[in-house]
Amino acid sequence: MKYIEYDVKTAISKSNLPELDYAVNPYTGCQHRCIYCFAIDFTKIDEAREKWGEVVYVKRNLMEVLKKQIKGMKRGITGLSSITDPYQPAEAIYGLTRESVRILLSNGFRVTVQTKSPLASRDIGLFASHRDLIDVGVTITTIDQKKALEIETQTPSPAQRVRLLERLHSNGIKTWIFIGPIIKGFNDSKDEVGKIFQVAKDNGARIIYDAYSPYKNSSVFMNNEFKHPVPERTRDTEWRGDLDRMMLSLGDQFDVRTNSQDDEWKVARGEGLGTLSTT
Ligand code: SF4
Repeated sequence: MKYIEYDVKTAISKSNLPELDYAVNPYTGCQHRCIYCFAIDFTKIDEAREKWGEVVYVKRNLMEVLKKQIKGMKRGITGLSSITDPYQPAEAIYGLTRESVRILLSNGFRVTVQTKSPLASRDIGLFASHRDLIDVGVTITTIDQKKALEIETQTPSPAQRVRLLERLHSNGIKTWIFIGPIIKGFNDSKDEVGKIFQVAKDNGARIIYDAYSPYKNSSVFMNNEFKHPVPERTRDTEWRGDLDRMMLSLGDQFDVRTNSQDDEWKVARGEGLGTLSTT
């Protein structure tokens, strides 16, 4: 794994996601190397994009720039991160996510974190000191470790993510589970998805879900490495309608609040909380 430090002029930027006002991405690139990752398509540094999972750029002066930038800035919902996992292994070395969260919370920003890494449990004390301003989402695409390894090649196991949720919940942190991407014919069975609903129920988490969509560069990984048929765009298909019905029915069955990523902005804006669509 290669880390390259660099300086940036901007630490926090306006988000294009309707549920967020701002995004902070302490790292460029992501060591987790999920083969469906569409963050690759939004990564501007060529080396990080072309060697996804092997090279991560680290924003060395992020704290300094963030502190300056937020002075006088309108407070809003800020996502960590929108195009990388903020608790990927680099965070254990550099701690940029922790410091960003600390600065944002202590300056009155709402923060929404999304991760697949148990490293986030390191910062539970920080989250707990600002419970009213933070929520933490954990992505779980499947509970089955073998299947997870097929698509999330360098990523902490589903069991580790479940333990993270348990720790967050037992410390009173607001949590949610992102089930996504749901890939047609791979992780879309009611039985399999139902196991994630059970985790949500046990841990007081709501559920946000999304279906797989092909993107230019992520399609290269999917086409080369996915051992099953790669779905075409599934929006507005019969399968997508069936998926929405299944998810809502599971939500009723488990009494877990459930909505699609497409509708998340309504929830986020209604409650002043937000979520992300990658990681
Ligand atoms: S999907 Fe998220 S965790 Fe996976 S490689 Fe992309 S940014 Fe990292």
